[in-house]
Amino acid sequence: MRTTPFPARNPYDDACIHLAAEAIRSGNLYGIGGTYTRRFEESFAELYGAQFAIATSSGTAAIHTALAALDPSPGSEVITAPITDAGTIVPILYQGCVPVFADVDEHLGMDPASVESLITERTVAIIVVHLFGNASDVRQLRAIADRHQVPLLEDCSQAHVTPLDGKLLGRYGHIGMFSLQQSKHMTTGDGGVVITDDPELAERMSLFRDKGWARSGFGPRSYPILGLNYRMTELQAAVGIPQIDRVKSVVARRRSLALRIDSYLDQAVGVRKFTPLPGCEASYWCYPFFVEQWPAETFSAALKAEGIPTMPGYIGEPIYSCMAALRDRRTFSDSSYPLSEPVHDTVTYALGLCPSAEAALQRLVVFWLHEGMTDADADDVGKAIAKVAANLEPVGAEVAP
Ligand SMILES: *Cc1c(COP(=O)(O)O)cnc(C)c1O
Repeated sequence: MRTTPFPARNPYDDACIHLAAEAIRSGNLYGIGGTYTRRFEESFAELYGAQFAIATSSGTAAIHTALAALDPSPGSEVITAPITDAGTIVPILYQGCVPVFADVDEHLGMDPASVESLITERTVAIIVVHLFGNASDVRQLRAIADRHQVPLLEDCSQAHVTPLDGKLLGRYGHIGMFSLQQSKHMTTGDGGVVITDDPELAERMSLFRDKGWARSGFGPRSYPILGLNYRMTELQAAVGIPQIDRVKSVVARRRSLALRIDSYLDQAVGVRKFTPLPGCEASYWCYPFFVEQWPAETFSAALKAEGIPTMPGYIGEPIYSCMAALRDRRTFSDSSYPLSEPVHDTVTYALGLCPSAEAALQRLVVFWLHEGMTDADADDVGKAIAKVAANLEPVGAEVAP
């Protein structure tokens, strides 16, 4: 199908280069009290119609900052998603909390019924993940969170400016959290940001990412809360600012390419397009699809022979199985803390925990779509998927994902 490589993505335009150079020439790249970091935060808050935006050094840092702001007691439980980046999970463990995994629905969002069934008196937060630029059903999840008086935090790392019923993901929960890592819709190489309307949470998050330091000029210091150094630098902020203006068009372009590939899958047998949650205008961090008559590895290998690189199974197994910290309870030395409390002895992270997520990963193939691709590039991907589906011998029994 294809002998030339796909165009490489370059998310940084001349405006990024200009602002980065300007930041360097200013002689200061330190974000606190800086000009670019403040501008980035103000523009990002405006983009989301949020009262506060606080920039951090990574998405993982953003999630840790949000969770820490809730001041959870050690041993508290956090309900989250089985298919995600480790950056969603690591902050939970470092904050002394226990991740509890809700299974996914047919759109790979967190299943609201599963989430509600896992709420206990120890639940301190729900961290919802919006996978691949598609929404988890935060309409229902927010109602469940409110009913049980549990804060809802939204990991929007893969779902920048993504509307659900016309309201952006990140605005349904008490806090929205974003990664600005290189692969994300908007990027500063590494970086992150949190948004909220709650002044108390904003204050705590602002302190936490700055070592807990309540700054008041030179002189004696005051650290009212325990925190980390998760500050964004001026250089990151400068690179990020111009992208705030064009992230909507980045997302629109990805969406249109994805829908173009979808049209080929509609006619193919044995493959199934990924369907976003109804009401969600998905932003396609990547292009996911399901293969029903072959293991994902087999289909992906055949696509590679057609010149289309893909990733079978995304992270492979659910995150509870990928991380030794969970699977083997190998956390801090041999303590297994915070998974060691007697009350958590019944918590397991063995395969079988989230059957729908595990089954979906076996049938999932991911193409790294990006906004720099042409319609012809998308057509090649769609045609190659259809060609492989039409010609590849089915393997094993048909399994519905
Ligand atoms: C990228 C990502 C993270 C972590 O972000 P980093 O910036 O790499 O720390 C967390 N959650 C999800 C869903 C992600 O895709």
